[in-house]
Amino acid sequence: MFVRVAIPIPSEKAFTYAVPEPFIPAVAVGKRALVPFGKRRVTGFIIEIMHEAACDQTVKEVLDLPDPEPLFDRDDLAFYEWISHYYLHPLGKVLGELLPGGIDVKSERWLRPADGTPFADLRLTSGQKELLEQVARCPEGVPLSRLRKTMGKNNLSGNLHLLETVGLVVSEERLNRPAVRTKKETWAILDAEIPSGEKLTKKQTAAVEALRERGPMPVGDLRRLIKNVASSLRALEQKGLIHLSEKEISRGPGLAAEIGSARNGVILNEAQATALEEIRRCLAAGQFSPCLLHGVTGSGKTEVYLQAIAEVLRGAGGAIYLVPEIALTGQLLSRVGSRFPDREIAVLHSGISRSARYDQWKRIRRGEVRVVVGARSALFAPVRDLRLIVVDEEHDSSYKQDERLRYNARDLALVRGRFSQATVILGSATPAIQSYFHAAAGRYRYLTLPARIDDRPLPRVEVVDLRTERNEQGLTPLLSRALIEAIRETLANGRQTLLFLNRRGFHTFLFCPECGYSFSCPNCEIALTHHAAEGVLKCHHCDFTARTSDLCPACKGSRVRSHGAGTERVEEEVKKLFPKARIARMDSDATSRKGDSDRILRSLDRGEIDILVGTQMITKGHDFPGITLVGVITADASLNIPDFRGAERTFQILTQVSGRGGRGDQPGRVVIQTFNPGHYVMRRAQEHDYAGFYADELPLRSQLSYPPFSRLVGLHFSSLKRQEGKRAVDEIGARARKLAATVAEGKLDVIGPAESPLARIRGRYRWQLLLRGKESRPLLLLAQTLLKGTGRDGLEILADVDPINFM
Ligand code: ADP
Ligand code: ZN
Repeated sequence: MFVRVAIPIPSEKAFTYAVPEPFIPAVAVGKRALVPFGKRRVTGFIIEIMHEAACDQTVKEVLDLPDPEPLFDRDDLAFYEWISHYYLHPLGKVLGELLPGGIDVKSERWLRPADGTPFADLRLTSGQKELLEQVARCPEGVPLSRLRKTMGKNNLSGNLHLLETVGLVVSEERLNRPAVRTKKETWAILDAEIPSGEKLTKKQTAAVEALRERGPMPVGDLRRLIKNVASSLRALEQKGLIHLSEKEISRGPGLAAEIGSARNGVILNEAQATALEEIRRCLAAGQFSPCLLHGVTGSGKTEVYLQAIAEVLRGAGGAIYLVPEIALTGQLLSRVGSRFPDREIAVLHSGISRSARYDQWKRIRRGEVRVVVGARSALFAPVRDLRLIVVDEEHDSSYKQDERLRYNARDLALVRGRFSQATVILGSATPAIQSYFHAAAGRYRYLTLPARIDDRPLPRVEVVDLRTERNEQGLTPLLSRALIEAIRETLANGRQTLLFLNRRGFHTFLFCPECGYSFSCPNCEIALTHHAAEGVLKCHHCDFTARTSDLCPACKGSRVRSHGAGTERVEEEVKKLFPKARIARMDSDATSRKGDSDRILRSLDRGEIDILVGTQMITKGHDFPGITLVGVITADASLNIPDFRGAERTFQILTQVSGRGGRGDQPGRVVIQTFNPGHYVMRRAQEHDYAGFYADELPLRSQLSYPPFSRLVGLHFSSLKRQEGKRAVDEIGARARKLAATVAEGKLDVIGPAESPLARIRGRYRWQLLLRGKESRPLLLLAQTLLKGTGRDGLEILADVDPINFM
C-alpha cells in the first residue's frame, strides 16, 4: 500500500510513500504522516491511498501516523484543492496553514560535542572557536536553530562544516515534540453498591458518597472535594467498587461575559419574517443557495441569522457564522451563547490558543459541535452536514487575508456553499459593489430589511463643508463650528458622542482646501500619492508621475497642502474644548492589550464615557443605545487612497459609522466634515441611499473595466536591491505583456509594473503588477507562468488573487 502525502513546502508536488505493514489498518485520507524528506523528517498530510505506486521507483516508508482520527475527509480535501489552485498556493502549504497549527512533528538539526580528542594543533578562527565553545557548553546537544538566533548567521554553516570535518562537533537529526497534544484526564466511575459487610475508611466512604450523588467525576474534582483521596481511590478500585478511566478532554474558550442585553423570544417583524421564510425555503431545498441580506443598520439582520441557525440545528445540520474579527466581541458572543446550548457552539478566532483550537477542531469534525462562530479562518472548520454559512458584514475587508495564503473568506464561503449544497447568507447594510451586482443579475437571492426595528428613524446626516471653515489663524480647524455645537448639545442632554477619524490608508495626498480639488491619475482615476521628499506625485498603479505644484490646477488657489491628522490630536483638541467631559480613545494604540477594547466598550455601555474618539474599530457591529451623536472628522481620507474602491469604502464607512447613532429611543444625528461636499459619496451617504450610490459607482467601474467588470490578479515583488530588483521586475512586466498579447490573445491587460505605495518595507524595495481580464482561467494561467520563471536574483514574488489592498 502507498500514500500520496502533501508536505508544507513551496512546491506543487505531492510525494509518494510506502506504508509498512503495521500501519496499514490505521491509514486514512486526512491523517498526518511523519515521513523522511531529504535529510529531514517532516509531517505531511495523506491526500490519497493507492494500492500500487505509479512507477517502479523505490519509495521511502511512512515513519508514523500520529493522528487517532483524520483531520479532514475527501469532501473537505476537494475544497482545499480548489483553494490551492485558485489562490496559486501549494496544497501542502494550504493544509499546513488551514488545519489547526502546532500539531506537526518535525526533525531538527542538533549539534553536540564529539567524544574523544581531535588534533591538538588545530588553528581555529575566532568564529569557529566561539561556535565550538557554545556547543561544548551543551553536552546533551543544542538545536542549530537556537545557535542561529544567538550567534547570528556569520558564516555559521561554513564554520560548522569545518568543525564537523575535523571531528570536533557531531550533527544529527532529532525529532521535536509537537506543540499541541491531546489532553486526557482520569475519571472515577462507581461500579457497584457497597456490599453490607464491606469496611471502608472514612475517606473511601466520602468518595463513594460523592460518586453516588453526582455521578462519574474527574479525579481532579474529587481531589478538590476530599483531600489526598488518590490512595483511597486506588483501594476502592482494587475492591472492584469503582473503576478509573481516561477521557480525552476538550480545551476551549467559554463564551464571553455579558455586555449589553441579549433578548430572547423576539417576535420578528414583517420584513424579517419574509426574509427568514425565504431562507427556510432555501434550507429545505438542500441546494446551493446564495442570498444577499441587505438591511440597513439596526434592521435586525442578526436576529434573522440566529433564527436561521436555530432552524438548521432543528434539522440536525451544521452552520458557520462568520463575523469580522473586530466584531467578535463579548456583546455578540453573549447574544449567540444565550440562544444555543453551550456544548454545541465553538468559537474560533486568532486569539485562542493552539491547543484549544486543535480540540475544537476534533469536536467539530466528530459532529459534537454544530455551530461555529468566528473570524475568517472559521470558514475552514470541518463542520459536518454543513447547511448554512452566514457572512455578516460581508463587505468588510478583514475577510481578506493578506499574508501567506491570500484568500477572501467571503468569496470562499460561496465556494464552500457550492461544494456542500448549502445556503449562504451574505449580510450587510452596505454590500460590496460586487455582491450587489451579482444579486441584481439574479445570481444571488436578494432579501431586504428596509427599515430599522420599531421603525426607528435613521439618523439625520449633516454634511459640513470644510472648505469654508476657518479658525482665528485662518486655518481649517479640526472640528467645525457645527460639530462643536452638536457635541455641546449632546453633552447637555446627558447623551454620548462618537467621533470617528478614518485614519486608515494614506495620509499624504495633496488637495486644495479652497475648491476641494484632489490630484488624481489621468489614466487610473485614483488619487496620486504625495512623495514629499522627491517633490512628486505618483500613481501606484501605472507609475504616472508628475511634479507637485504650488498652484491648484482647478482654481489656481495657492494653498495646496497635504493632509493627515491622527486620533490623538483629535482627543487632545476635544479635551481642550470640553474640559469637563469624560473622554476616551479607542484605536489600535489604545487597545494593544487583550481585553482593552472590551473594557472601553463596557464603560461606554455603562455610560461612563461622554465622548469616544476612535478609528475603524468603533464602527463595527456594536449596539449602544446611549449614543445620539456621531461626528466624522474627515470623510476624505479613504476617498483619496490609491485604490479604485476608494469611493465604495468611503460610502461603507460613512454609512456604518452613522449607523452607530440613534439605536435607542432617541433619534440620532450625524455630522460629516469634508472637503468634497459635492461628491456623490457624501450626497448618497447623507440620504442613506445605497441604491443611488450603486447607480453612481457602477458606470465608473464599467468605463475603467475594474471589478465587477473584470477580475484582477496582483503580483507583488520585493527585493533587497533596488537596481537589480527593478530590472528583474521590468523584465517580468515585458514578459507578461508579450504573453498577454500572444498566448492570451489580447484577452488580458497588464498594468504596471509600478513602485508600490509603500515603496520600502523592512529594507525591501517593493513593486507591483496587475493582471486584468474578464475570465479567471487565462488570468490564473498567466500568473502561474510568471511565478514559475522567477525566484532568481533575490527577487521575492507573491500572487494576490482578487486583491483588495494596493499598498
Ligand atoms: P442589525 O444586525 O441589522 O444591525 P440587530 O439584529 O442587531 O440589527 O437588531 C438591532 C436591535 O433590535 C437589537 O437590539 C435586537 O435585539 C433588536 N431586535 C431585532 N429584531 C427585533 C424584533 N423583531 N423585535 C424587537 N427587537 C428586535
Ligand atoms: Zn495611473
